[in-house]
Amino acid sequence: MSQHPRPRFTYLGHATVRCDLPGGEVVLIDPWVQGNPSCPEDLKSFDRLDAVLITHAHYDHMGDALELCKRHKPKKVVASFEICSWLERKGVKSCSAMNLGGCQDVLGLQVTMVRADHSCGLSDGDQILYGGAAAGYVVRLPAGFTFYHAGDTALFSDMQLLGEMYRPELAFLPIGDLFTMDPTQAARACRFLGVRKVIPIHWGTFPLLTGTPAKLEKALEAYGTACEVVTLKPGESY
Ligand SMILES: [Zn+2]
Repeated sequence: MSQHPRPRFTYLGHATVRCDLPGGEVVLIDPWVQGNPSCPEDLKSFDRLDAVLITHAHYDHMGDALELCKRHKPKKVVASFEICSWLERKGVKSCSAMNLGGCQDVLGLQVTMVRADHSCGLSDGDQILYGGAAAGYVVRLPAGFTFYHAGDTALFSDMQLLGEMYRPELAFLPIGDLFTMDPTQAARACRFLGVRKVIPIHWGTFPLLTGTPAKLEKALEAYGTACEVVTLKPGESY
């Protein structure tokens, strides 16, 4: 483990994660707060938003992107080319589009967009537009701390490659099943990634999502994988 200052991560429920960087900047991953039944009321608004990262176009990941980006004017809004084009058409400035495999500097963080096995339709009125590829992010802090937010994804064996290349210390992994990995697949993902800590996301928001952190702990034990499950209730920080 590196001894460098780390971000403070606050889980806002579902897949939404607020990162308070050591310098005070606020980065929001997957902005969905207003309609998010898990998000605590007092955490739905922000004093500042310096950057926004969007993994894919589904409403439960970018439902508040427009509203929040217009209000707080983050320095960078990072998403697929297609999502960025849509946001720009709706009046968001400072979009910084990227695609799978690419890396860019965001407030001094090295942000790499990586594969996710998922769909990415963008709901606009009663239409579903093409939103580009669904993605995850590997984020490297200047001082050496690296984390991975998988977005919504199935298990894929290239997670081994992400582990080898980026050596993330911490992963945010979906465990809810049905739309994403279940806890058994997520346990294997932890082994592929070589992470020592995992924060489960995309669970408990709706009754349909049946995966739980307890099931993930059991699955990790069954695999003999030494990875700590850091379970955050919405509103809790790590
Ligand atoms: Zn989702």
